[in-house]
Amino acid sequence: MRILLVEDDPDLSDVAATHLRRQSHAVDPVARLGEASAALASVQYDLILLDLGLPDGDGVDWLQGRRSAGLAVPVLILTARDQVSQRIRGLDAGADDYLTKPYDLFELGARVRALGRRQIASSSVQSGAVSIDLAARRVALDGAEVRLTSREWAVLEALALRPGHLVPRSRLEDALYAFGAEVESNVLEVYVSQLRRKLGRDLIETVRGLGYRLGGTDGAGPA
Ligand code: CA
Repeated sequence: MRILLVEDDPDLSDVAATHLRRQSHAVDPVARLGEASAALASVQYDLILLDLGLPDGDGVDWLQGRRSAGLAVPVLILTARDQVSQRIRGLDAGADDYLTKPYDLFELGARVRALGRRQIASSSVQSGAVSIDLAARRVALDGAEVRLTSREWAVLEALALRPGHLVPRSRLEDALYAFGAEVESNVLEVYVSQLRRKLGRDLIETVRGLGYRLGGTDGAGPA
């Protein structure tokens, strides 16, 4: 998933970003709400991790404003404010979940996975002989597990979240790279060709000039 991490404590930000990157997520850390708004204007995120006490404002007020402006991305609040009334205020402002600092990194990872799963009707997708388990982050060809690199998985996951539908190049490139990283023009083709080599030529259809589509799913939702 592509994750926007809004946290002004540099140590907490580094630790969380490193942990989530190890789990194959692309993480864009920002330290201010203004930067978060700018990032949201240019990247399609799957999840926002939001600290509340930030140098340029209060995260709850910001979230409330973004939600009323139509922001649909799931939000997990990370904060030291542990009073029940503050948790309720955060959830009422449009947060999907709440984690109190200090939090366990493995619990953070589990909640991130749970919020990712909530966006899809089912956590497994079948395409021909390939079965993709989005919750367990595993893929199998004819029942035998196939190992993917983090970036191969990022591309496959972005396609499997919308099986049978065109996924634009920009969406796939967002899934591949954290904010600010270089994206060379042919890098997406490289990962698509690696996925076809490992999982079969028919798995991913090219929609010329536009993007790619996970094939063999008849345009239906997740199986
Ligand atoms: Ca803070």
